[in-house]
Formats: sequence, C-alpha cells, structure tokens
Amino acid sequence: MDTAEIRRRFTDHFERNGHTLVPSASLLLDDPNLLFVNAGMVPFKPYFLGQETAPYARATSVQKCVRTLDIEEVGKTTRHGTFFQMCGNFSFGDYFKEGAIRLAWELITGPVDSGGLGFDPELIWVTVLPSDDEARELWHTVAGLPYERIQDRGLEDNYWNMGVPGPGGPCSEIYVDRGPEFGPDGGPNADEDRFLEIWNLVFMQEELSAVRSKADFDVAGPLPARNIDTGLGLERVAYLLQGKQNMYEIDEVFPVIERAAELTGRAYGADAGDDVRFRVVADHVRSALMLIGDGVTPGNEGRGYVLRRLLRRAVRSMRLLGHEERALPELLPVSLAKMKLGYPQLEADFERISRVAYAEEDAFRKTLAAGTQIFDVAAGEVKQTGETTLSGAKAFALHDTYGFPIDLTLEMAAEQGLAVDEQGFRSLMAEQRARAKADAKSKKGQHADTSVYRGVLDANGPTQWLAYETLETESA
Ligand code: ATP
Ligand code: MG
Ligand code: MG
Ligand code: MG
Repeated sequence: MDTAEIRRRFTDHFERNGHTLVPSASLLLDDPNLLFVNAGMVPFKPYFLGQETAPYARATSVQKCVRTLDIEEVGKTTRHGTFFQMCGNFSFGDYFKEGAIRLAWELITGPVDSGGLGFDPELIWVTVLPSDDEARELWHTVAGLPYERIQDRGLEDNYWNMGVPGPGGPCSEIYVDRGPEFGPDGGPNADEDRFLEIWNLVFMQEELSAVRSKADFDVAGPLPARNIDTGLGLERVAYLLQGKQNMYEIDEVFPVIERAAELTGRAYGADAGDDVRFRVVADHVRSALMLIGDGVTPGNEGRGYVLRRLLRRAVRSMRLLGHEERALPELLPVSLAKMKLGYPQLEADFERISRVAYAEEDAFRKTLAAGTQIFDVAAGEVKQTGETTLSGAKAFALHDTYGFPIDLTLEMAAEQGLAVDEQGFRSLMAEQRARAKADAKSKKGQHADTSVYRGVLDANGPTQWLAYETLETESA
C-alpha cells in the first residue's frame, strides 16, 4: 500500500465519521515556543486552549512536521525522520475516549477491502497511564485487547501537556509487533524497536494550573469540554504495510537512496555505517525540500540554521560515501518527483527551491575545499602524538581562517575518533569578541563593525541549535 493510499484511507475514514478535512498548515506557523510545526495539533492550539471556538466539532488532517530534536536519531533508529507527516483526528468537546479508541481500532484493524489498514489485531499492543482505568477498560471492551497487551507507562510518555498552564491529559499509544526477529518479547515496555509506536491518542481532560515539566504539574480540575487529539506517523505505517525495515525505505523516500547509491557506486545494504549515511541523505534532502518549499532560506540562526545544517549534513554524507561532485542537483529532483504527488505546489516552485539549495551546496563546497586538508593535517598531528583531543586553538583557527563552524569540526573530529577542546575554542572566541568590542568602541562614530555580531553568531552556533531544540515540546 503506497503512502498516498494510506494517507487517503486515514482521512476517508474520519470524513466518513463526521470529521472535516483540514489541509496541512505550513511548517512555519507563528508560535513563540516552536521553531517548526512538530505535531498535528499545533494549528488547532487556539481551539484547545479555548482562545477561539472551533468551526467544526471534529476535524482530520495530515500535517507536515519537522522535529529537529530527532536529528541525531535519523538513520540509526528505524522510525525517526526530521520531516514526517502526522495523520490526526481531533474532537473539540465532542467524542472522547471511547470514540477515539473505537475509531482508531476500526481503521487499523479494518479489512483492506473495506477501507481499513488491515493490521492483524493479535499484533497490536497499547500503553496507558497507570491511573487511567477508563482507557484500560475501553481497550479491553471496545477493542477486545487482552490485558496482557495493555501496558502501563508513566507520566513521561503517557501524559500530555503544552508545557504551560492549560489543557492536559493522559495519552495512550498504539504499537505494532514487528516479530521476534526484531527483538525480545514483552511488549513496548521491553523493546521499542520490535514494538513500533505508530499512534498516540491524547485525552485532554483536565485543566493544569502549573506546569514545571512533562511529568511535574498541578491539576486544577476537569476541563469544561474534553477534547481528543491524536497523531499517527504516516511513514511508520507505510514502512510496516510495505514490508520494509525502516521509514527511509518507503516509496516516498527510498528513490533518493537508490540515486545516491548509483552516484557513489556503493550498494545500500552492504555496510551498516554506509547505510546510516544513505538514510541521512534521503531524510535530509526531503526535509530541506519541504522547508525551502515553505519559505526557509539557509542562515546562521533559527530556522535558517536548521536548514543549513540539514543541507550540509546531506552533502557531507555523500562525500563520506565517496561522492565528491555536486550532489543536490542529482538528489533534490528525485525527492521532488515523489513529494509533489502530495504537495503539487512544490513543482511550481521548484525553480526557486532548487536555486536556494544548490547555492548553499556551492558555498559549502568552497568552505570544505579550503578547510578539509587543514583539518586532516591537524587531526593527523593529534593522532601522531597519541592524543585524542583536537585543541581549542586548532578549532578556532579552522573557524577563523576557513569558516568551519564548530559543529562541523566536532562532527569531522568524531568521525576520526577525536574529541575537541570546546571550552578552549569558546574562550578564544570570547577573547576575539572582546577585542572586536574594544576595537568597535575606539572606532565609535565610524561605521558599524559587524564582526562583533558574526563572532557572537558563530560562537553560539551549536549552542543555539540545542537551545532551539529545547524550545520544542513534543506533542501528538
Ligand atoms: P517516539 O517515542 O518513537 O520518538 P513520540 O512518542 O515522540 O515517538 P509522538 O509525539 O507521540 O511521538 O507523535 C505521534 C506520532 O508521530 C508517533 O506515534 C509516531 O508515529 C509519529 N512520529 C513522532 N516522531 C516521529 C519522527 N521523528 N519521524 C516519524 N514519525 C514520528
Ligand atoms: Mg520522540
Ligand atoms: Mg514515544
Ligand atoms: Mg508518542
């Protein structure tokens, strides 16, 4: 079943059940707490918070999502993409737990020839919050799940809140058993690779007066209107229904891996390290396509920095696979050919999108050409002396003279089994900044010295990256 068909079955099922189909919002919705939309509920937040009245009691959508938090997982787990699509159904004060469980169960276990996804009910496991007896009983009575396949999970995973006072509630996650060849028995609590999380049902039932963390909050009382918010990972379902091993091998993503394999002359599936790089390439190329499509351009901070980092990682992964030529002009159109089926505006806009991406690759190639040899020599010297850490001075020189951002130096060093004296690097950056400041002061009245800002930006690059990630609160 191809990804487009699964997407259609999802929304058809919920439209048949009285939900209004709402198109995906842009990845760049204005939200002070989020860099990118990272869940299907984000565009509906004003309704859940009671700031606006929803124009419908039930809605369904397939929302574009980006989670930078998952960047390091890409290619290593089977299930994390930086870009992915979240299918959701939402109830604004309409049906609650029973309706959500029944509708989800009907779709996943419904026969393929009558619009369902056809999962074997015997392979389904769920988790509930230990105190949520209501959900546990509903899974048992409505879905007929034996209690052995209903596991308890704590607040960290099975309680949802927005990180601020407002609605909150328990959630219940649905898992599919991929089979004994993928890990030990014992349900999702035993193994999250064998038991793949596909769907999260959130039951917004109470008002929180204070939220200190995901698992530490005060409940003020029940909400006047209880809501449902769910998120199903489209790519995860696709990889299961297409009989693949991970989300990078599905119809919408795999053609980029195939093209990368042709270009590099290396086979996918032959070497575990190479395979991770192939997956990173396919994932990041697609995410970049979708981000530029929604209006992001590469830059040194915020969204632009995320895009820059994705593009650079894709290009570098191709190099590590042995392809030194320009890569994006060979890969981006392959991703487009797949993604335009769901997002036709990408094609109309591709001239602009590709120009942005290719220019970034060209600029990065210049940086690499200037600095890679210097880096290799420095790394070689470190190793020769039996050390394992590249000095702060070397990292600073690479940055100052060749424009190597520190995260690139960190990544390249890690590939050679070396650490970097980041502390030393940062104090040199701070010294330079102080010098620039003093310099700017003495030149006061002349024109502005922008090197100060550049210094700050570069010094804070990777820290900013992390800071933005911590802004993200994951929610279904
Ligand atoms: P995981 O525990 O696997 O990281 P999650 O609990 O963080 O997933 P939710 O926040 O519950 O995920 O999001 C709802 C659904 O969206 C998940 O059940 C999953 O199917 C899908 N999903 C979440 N993150 C990703 C991702 N990075 N790539 C692909 N699908 C994802
Ligand atoms: Mg996660
Ligand atoms: Mg989870
Ligand atoms: Mg989850």
